[in-house]
Amino acid sequence: MSVLSAAGAAYVVATLLFIMSLAGLSKHETARRGVVFGITGMALALTATVVVTVQEASTRGIVLLVVAVVIGASIGLWRASGVQMTTVPELIALLHSFVGLAAVLVGWNGYLGDSDRTGAAVDIYHAEIFVGVLVGGVTFTGSIVAFLKLSARVKSAPLVLPGKNVLNLGALVAFVVLTVVFVIQPALWLLALVTVLSFALGWHLVASIGGGDMPVVVSMLNSYSGWAAAAAGFLLSNNLLIVVGALVGSSGAYLSYIMCKAMNRSFLSVIAGGFGIEAPSSGDADHGEHTEIDPQGVAELLADADSVIIAPGYGMAVAHAQYPVADLVHRLRERGVEVRFGIHPVAGRLPGHMNVLLAEAKVPYDIVLELDEINDDFAQTSVVLVIGANDTVNPAAAEDPASPIAGMPVLHVWEAGHVIVFKRSMAVGYAGVQNPLFFRDNTQMLFGDAKERVEDIIHAL
Ligand code: NDP
Repeated sequence: MSVLSAAGAAYVVATLLFIMSLAGLSKHETARRGVVFGITGMALALTATVVVTVQEASTRGIVLLVVAVVIGASIGLWRASGVQMTTVPELIALLHSFVGLAAVLVGWNGYLGDSDRTGAAVDIYHAEIFVGVLVGGVTFTGSIVAFLKLSARVKSAPLVLPGKNVLNLGALVAFVVLTVVFVIQPALWLLALVTVLSFALGWHLVASIGGGDMPVVVSMLNSYSGWAAAAAGFLLSNNLLIVVGALVGSSGAYLSYIMCKAMNRSFLSVIAGGFGIEAPSSGDADHGEHTEIDPQGVAELLADADSVIIAPGYGMAVAHAQYPVADLVHRLRERGVEVRFGIHPVAGRLPGHMNVLLAEAKVPYDIVLELDEINDDFAQTSVVLVIGANDTVNPAAAEDPASPIAGMPVLHVWEAGHVIVFKRSMAVGYAGVQNPLFFRDNTQMLFGDAKERVEDIIHAL
């Protein structure tokens, strides 16, 4: 068997492993196995690619390959080994940007390098270059903006340029015209122009989307990075890249669709850079005074409670409060109090963030309920502990049509007898919207780091 056909066979096996990996990752019980399949598939694909390259390339090519792999692997190991759970989404956004940039570079290389295509195949190839550069460029700058927003380096509020929808539409029309011109008469300046256009479009599409919709943006960029890889696969005539890119692209698109449904958002509106979403109201209305409580007061309320629901959010992850929270739950259950968790689909900064933290702290699965399963029970609940959640418990989403998060389903915590909100200040949540919950008569604020405050409550109990 020649090296090329052996590599082809390895690619087929790797593709199957990736499909099995995706299937495994769809359930808690099989997720670990799914990860092992994914790693094995990637190791096989990389080995086959390196062997083929070494066979075909000159010494200079091999040296370049080794240098690139060593630099890439070192940066990857260094970044991933120090990453905190709360910063995984921004790391993922940054990694997506690399896929996008790679697709742009493959496009440029496709034009500048030699090609053995003739006749109509050349025209198709030139159109492929433009599609690859557009998808790659949008993914590149879009992911960088997502990284900046997720890491709070820029504000999460949506950018609302005048006529933003016309700008997006105009960019797409310009792309189609430039592609036709490039196919008829290829020129370097056209390629440079479409690269700049794709960078500007990616930046604008993601900058126009507000904080509340960022979960959808992250999964959407995941999808784009897949299509960018598939486009690069066409240019490099690499079947593995095409298949894997399509797998990532379609699964990311499906995840975006599920997230949009969970958040009551229009899928098309989000992928079109917030199409139809108007500039949000300023939200600086006077909500009145808030009341505070101390850990001793919370311990007394909990001691008298029959039922307690805990609504955790991003702040619980930041404070690493899941362990004392699990301890508190254990103690309350020992006293005969019914304790359950209400998990919002976008609580934290990545899908399933709260479930992972609670599983890590060994909280039993059966008391961890989804929004739909628990939302009708708040009215019959004595005490709700909102631990580091903000946007996901904001009544404005249900009650104020002018709010930037209007229409997003939220946990109806305010319907309970007492609501205790754990946070460090009166600061707004990720979407940048003030939360009227904090000023309600049945709400009391417990200020400070969530982990320390929960430990104080355990001590007081
Ligand atoms: P938010 O991000 O809205 O708010 C978190 C709150 O935690 C803040 O108000 C903050 O207040 C508080 N906090 C931070 N650190 C601590 C600490 N150490 N101790 C106590 N409190 C702390 O949280 P939610 O989980 O309710 O909402 C998630 C948001 O993130 C949504 O807007 C969602 O759309 C968005 N998002 C979600 C993604 C996902 O996939 N899940 C991905 C991207 C974005 P203070 O500073 O006063 O302490």
